[in-house]
Amino acid sequence: MVSEQIKTVKENIKAACERAGRSPSEVTLIAVSKTKPNELVMEAYNAGIRTFGENYVQELVEKIETLPDDIEWHMIGHLQRNKVKYIVGKVAMIHSVDSLRLAEEISREAVKKNFTVDILVEVNVAGEENKFGITVENCVEIVTQISRLPGLNVRGLMTSAPYVENAEENRKYFRDLKQLCVDINAKNIDNINMDVLSMGMTNDYTVAVEEGATMVRVGTAIFGARNYNK
Ligand SMILES: *Cc1c(COP(=O)(O)O)cnc(C)c1O
Repeated sequence: MVSEQIKTVKENIKAACERAGRSPSEVTLIAVSKTKPNELVMEAYNAGIRTFGENYVQELVEKIETLPDDIEWHMIGHLQRNKVKYIVGKVAMIHSVDSLRLAEEISREAVKKNFTVDILVEVNVAGEENKFGITVENCVEIVTQISRLPGLNVRGLMTSAPYVENAEENRKYFRDLKQLCVDINAKNIDNINMDVLSMGMTNDYTVAVEEGATMVRVGTAIFGARNYNK
């Protein structure tokens, strides 16, 4: 049952907050509903969830059009520049800004629509090949460049840590992302005041919360395993 799984995830977040001396109100649970049908999304909605994450533009737009208006949608998947126009103005936040060129496209579309878009810069914090995200080394420079673009609000950083059996192995990466955020804020760059850290998925969200996550993106633990072949 989705509602029971949500309850469990929330309890785990609360316990992780207690261990870290944080308040659960600092952590937003984003229910990742990609590939899941509207009926399941509505089960989560009826259990009180109003913040959902999606990866694919077409699926996201269809869900926005058919599901209740008070849902906050977060784009968390890799975004192609030619699809930016379909989501600007419709999503609460884009987590997956992984290049200056993508940020420029979002900025152009935002200005055109007279909108301000909240974005996160995606960092490939473990330096994995075949994974999107800018490198830790380039982060300050790219964040600075993006922060000068009109129509954008750089709210923080996002990462997808490696897939590991033991979540403890990812603790250092969550710590690194938090530190990167602290370091960038300390530089007092114009227009940069980042307070969002989007990190932690089904396998590692409790460790991410212990290390300072303010948004966790949880799919499988809420909706069950995904089947991409349907
Ligand atoms: C699919 C996905 C998630 C959720 O993953 P689970 O392991 O199912 O919790 C979170 N973040 C991103 C970027 C994803 O693509």
